[in-house]
Amino acid sequence: MSAWQYKQPVEILFKTGFLAEIGRFLEERRFKNGLLICDEFFISNGKADEIIAESNGRLTGIFSDIRPNPTIGNVDACIKTVEDANAEFAVAFGGGSVIDCAKIACLLAKSNVPAALVHKGDAALPASGIPLIAIPTTAGTGSEVTGVSVLTDDTKGIKAPIAGDALYPKIAIIDPVQTISLPASVTAATGMDVLAHALESFWSKNHQPICDALAIEAARLTLEALPVAFRDGSNLQARTSMCEASLIAGLAFAVPKTAGAHACSFRLTNIYNMPHGEACAFTLAAFTRINSEAESGRLHWFAEKLGFADAYKLADHIDKMKNEMGLKTTLSQAGISVSDLPALAEKCRHPNLNNNPVTMSDNDVIAMFKTLA
Ligand code: NAD
Repeated sequence: MSAWQYKQPVEILFKTGFLAEIGRFLEERRFKNGLLICDEFFISNGKADEIIAESNGRLTGIFSDIRPNPTIGNVDACIKTVEDANAEFAVAFGGGSVIDCAKIACLLAKSNVPAALVHKGDAALPASGIPLIAIPTTAGTGSEVTGVSVLTDDTKGIKAPIAGDALYPKIAIIDPVQTISLPASVTAATGMDVLAHALESFWSKNHQPICDALAIEAARLTLEALPVAFRDGSNLQARTSMCEASLIAGLAFAVPKTAGAHACSFRLTNIYNMPHGEACAFTLAAFTRINSEAESGRLHWFAEKLGFADAYKLADHIDKMKNEMGLKTTLSQAGISVSDLPALAEKCRHPNLNNNPVTMSDNDVIAMFKTLA
């Protein structure tokens, strides 16, 4: 007997060059007195000022103190700015770090619920906050269509996701032009995050037919377009395909959630300072091999649909892509020594690991990392 559900509450608009129309859009939708949430990159390149100017007075302030892998401190400061400005909505313009910070800040503003307590699991999320319009500038996380916000508690060195229906943005607007400025290294890391979302949603213990279909299309687009976007960042067609892939992969994993590669990625970022997408990619081929025979080898079917002889060949191709794009492929490149592995394995015991189709003990995680020696 099969039983599953799918939901996606976010309104999605995909339009090349949308940003020039943002003022008219906000006016039509009657959004007023909003806060632009971005990071310092968009202050330094003038984009934030451009968006404020285009907004026809509908965006009246900016918050930009958000670092990659946003901290509880970033969220607290963002909440304060939302409250001080009495903002009625917000536009998040940035990568997953900006969107995740904005999602939780928009929900917790005026609630008196501290982000640190929610992160620890000691407080419940409020039912609703101020509406958020999410405009991604990386093709990677799919955060614009997920009810997840990944935060780092600096005081404890813990990076972990918070999940809840109230965290979904109200509207996601994808404008591929905004990803043209991504440097090749960020294109590579964020693009591999898309492939991780596609694969992990497919092999998640909670996989289901709608998400499987989305996962295959997201993986197909990524395998085709990522090498092109990496080599030529100005190729708008490749950027558009990667934005589609990122969005579709976000729709794929939002319900079944990710698994082992993401569970390990949080600690690889915390401890070894790896960018999020690169951290997911680090173990992705290894998990592809480990999960190949799970559930009667359904991953082989996935690989065949993508033109590979089997899942092992898909894993080899992932390694090849990482090598070609200069992403870390070995423990030594990542600064991980074999003696680190027992402690690392213990820290990788994140709930997402329980979503892996093959049960992973600490010894299994150590053995998996040793394949990267
Ligand atoms: P990011 O947002 O951290 O951005 C990486 C770097 O790229 C930053 O320095 C940023 O300023 C820069 N950048 C962003 N857009 C740019 C552009 N258009 N041009 C030039 N530079 C640009 O990277 P990310 O991979 O998008 O987000 C990672 C975060 O998202 C992590 O914290 C990760 O855990 C989280 N995440 C969240 C979800 C979710 O569902 N909420 C899913 C996956 C990952």
